[in-house]
Amino acid sequence: MPTGEALVSAMEPIYLGIFEGIKAYVEGDVLSEGRLNIFGWRQHVDRLFRSAQVDGLAMPYSKVELLEAVRETIKANGYRGNTYIQPRVWPKAGNQDESHVVVPTWGFETLLGKSNPRFGEERRFMVSSWRRLSSDALPPQAKSWANYANSALARREAVRCGYDNAIFLDRRGFVSESTGACLMTVRDGRVITPPVTASILESVTRGCFIEFIPDLGVPVEVRDLTRVELYASDEAFLCGTGGECTPIASVDDIRFGEEYPGPVTVRIAEYYSDILAGNVAEYKSWLTPV
Ligand code: PMP
Repeated sequence: MPTGEALVSAMEPIYLGIFEGIKAYVEGDVLSEGRLNIFGWRQHVDRLFRSAQVDGLAMPYSKVELLEAVRETIKANGYRGNTYIQPRVWPKAGNQDESHVVVPTWGFETLLGKSNPRFGEERRFMVSSWRRLSSDALPPQAKSWANYANSALARREAVRCGYDNAIFLDRRGFVSESTGACLMTVRDGRVITPPVTASILESVTRGCFIEFIPDLGVPVEVRDLTRVELYASDEAFLCGTGGECTPIASVDDIRFGEEYPGPVTVRIAEYYSDILAGNVAEYKSWLTPV
């Protein structure tokens, strides 16, 4: 079929594609069914436009039009449970000044919610032999598909070595992030998370965690973290749209703390779950009704 006639051509320059990973959660209780609210819509759509700006992609729709498209897609599919939303944008094969936009959606199972058995599953991570890509080559701060080749190498290496997933160091040797989520550790009752300059994606979830964790009386430090500090942490967990709040049992077979999942991680996950369900008035502004 001629390229110009194809709805999506086989010649698409997909290496420049960008996307967002967004979740809509059920109001009231994240483990039930009912009304859905999109978490962090404004932050996600802002990041999508920033990624487009970095990659030089045209955005043919406004932020308001995209929200309407997301709402229509969710309604048309009749979702009543937690729903994942992944807007994708990539240049057209025939004219790279124009972009395709699609909004795939699908249901997902949350790790969160009281007595959810998935939350406490054992998760063994390794420090990857691959370094996180750095912004002088390919900016990790933009959510481009190309960045996920770096993630896939690390994850596949980890699985080959018998682990569940990997943690990257950045090119300076400081702790960066995991393959699809940011990392937080707990040391002496304080949460530590690497800065944006440690080659991490500017995570929406991480930004919200940094804002709400102090409500629990737990201070948060954003600073470079050494590998040895990671090893000698009391607890560690991932934060991200996909990862939500995922406890990590060990890194390189060095176990964290005495309890798994750790008590601070559990408190953060429960609070986050309440925020997502719309039960915390202070953070209702992070939720956009479908
Ligand atoms: N880092 C990477 C590499 C990711 O893919 C993700 C998931 N989008 C995150 C961090 C977490 O970002 P967010 O909280 O915005 O989902």
